[in-house]
Amino acid sequence: MTKVNLGILGGGQLGSLLAISAKKLNIKTTIFCDDKNAPAQNYCDNFIFGDYEDSECIKQFINNVDLVTYEFENIPYETLHQINSQKKVHPKPEINRIIQNRLFEKNFINDLGIKTTKYKLIKKVTDIEQNEDLVPGLLKTCTLGYDGKGQFKINAINDLKNLKIDFKKNFILEKFIDLKKEISVVLTRFDKNSFEIYEPIENIHQEQILRTSKIPADIKNELKELSKKWAISISEALDYIGTLCVEFFIDNQDNLYVNEIASRVHNSGHLTINSHNVSQFENHLRAVCKLDKLNTKKLYNAEMINLIGNDILKYRNAKLQDNEFFFDYKKKDIKPKRKMGHLTRIFK
Ligand code: AMP
Repeated sequence: MTKVNLGILGGGQLGSLLAISAKKLNIKTTIFCDDKNAPAQNYCDNFIFGDYEDSECIKQFINNVDLVTYEFENIPYETLHQINSQKKVHPKPEINRIIQNRLFEKNFINDLGIKTTKYKLIKKVTDIEQNEDLVPGLLKTCTLGYDGKGQFKINAINDLKNLKIDFKKNFILEKFIDLKKEISVVLTRFDKNSFEIYEPIENIHQEQILRTSKIPADIKNELKELSKKWAISISEALDYIGTLCVEFFIDNQDNLYVNEIASRVHNSGHLTINSHNVSQFENHLRAVCKLDKLNTKKLYNAEMINLIGNDILKYRNAKLQDNEFFFDYKKKDIKPKRKMGHLTRIFK
């Protein structure tokens, strides 16, 4: 039997970990990425470097692969749509159209009767002044913001005088909440009402970048159940195929809010490589390539620490404990705030 050739858009650490997992399942991978130093080229079978809007590269990619998935959600919708007209893309491109835009995403979630923080569309400074009830708040670009990029904290209306905001882009103003905890739920949907779900993962962010993740999350059982229920409802409403991550906030009164949806494998799910019999990456590949769905079980509790910037140097060549697993993303340059690798510890 000829091997399936899976196309993956994006060649960062998520693309790398997908390509590593694909080898185990005997799936070939072709990665298309706009970074010529993309770390995933160390792990895939074919690598195409080029702009995501370059028609020649898109054509070459389509001709090379049997079906397509992606490792990040900010790929131009037109590109996904064009590929999908010839080779199936999972998750389907329409999902990304919603998720790429914070306003569409939050409207979609609220329409399902699921709670988010309060928010309003902001097109000009006076829109902020007219929504004083959302201050203190965070002004976030509707598109292309991640790890805190494109975000401004507004503590008081007076702050606006000092902020230089380019209103060529649309923003949302989101009410700032006192966070008690942040959690995420990773699930892989195979078909209607057919999915594998991981237990909620507790996440700690510093400077808006994920620092550590652990299971079990130290939260009430009701919140564990509700977060899983909401993640399932979201994946069903999106008619999703593959691995998806829903990120949540919990405030001091134990209210649960969806923060955002990632239509892909997620950094907080890295610990599933060592904590479970089937990782989020393997489950994603199984779902998009229509392989068997395996009963996913937890083997260990675990914590994952992101190695950011120079943190990586401490672990390269370090002697690890028996319960420690080190992953070096082999990125070309070490930069502050850049995720360079991660360490997972498992516990009985
Ligand atoms: P985001 O890019 O929207 O996921 O935000 C990155 C991080 O900023 C989150 O993981 C939170 O730690 C923090 N954050 C974002 N929005 C809020 C909010 N409305 N209230 C409190 N903290 C927030």
